[in-house]
Amino acid sequence: MHISQQFQRWYSGPPQIKLEYARQLCKIVQENLWLDGKLHDKLLGLKKSCEQLSLQMERMEMGKLCSACATRPDGGCCSAYMADNTDSIQILINLLLEKDISLRDPVDSECCFLGPQGCRFMAKPIFCLNYNCTHIMKRTDPQTMKTLEQHAAAVLGQQTAIESWLLDRLQHLPLQTI
Ligand code: SF4
Ligand code: SF4
Repeated sequence: MHISQQFQRWYSGPPQIKLEYARQLCKIVQENLWLDGKLHDKLLGLKKSCEQLSLQMERMEMGKLCSACATRPDGGCCSAYMADNTDSIQILINLLLEKDISLRDPVDSECCFLGPQGCRFMAKPIFCLNYNCTHIMKRTDPQTMKTLEQHAAAVLGQQTAIESWLLDRLQHLPLQTI
């Protein structure tokens, strides 16, 4: 298979398959790239930025807002079709960050990556990372929104850099079975 076709497979298809590819890729990365200090430094930087973003979201009490929203008849924004915004490399990054990623059980109208404590990902799909609904916008002053966006941009920059680094390294590894 041509490598570009192989990359495309990790970015399409149902979330279950993307998760399966990510698990296989995780083994390959751990066997071949885990000793590369650059990867650890990059993951550590991303983790710190994700923690900063979470802190900002806590300060804004977004957890409470989203929980209340999710109990309304029309529900929150983490609906089943949103899971299509994931890809195998983004899921792989979460596995490398030692997040335990499993699918929602039972299958229902919610995103299959929504767990009892909220989204299972530390490194979220880009769409989810950048999404700020009208409920959030209406109750937040411009400076606080700007701070939130700066934290999200820091996460996105590092996440994208790790994705590029991984894709570049994976090109040189034997991936016939994935
Ligand atoms: S992000 Fe907005 S729409 Fe989504 S659950 Fe939270 S409050 Fe509701
Ligand atoms: S934030 Fe997480 S749970 Fe919500 S739609 Fe995105 S991936 Fe799914």
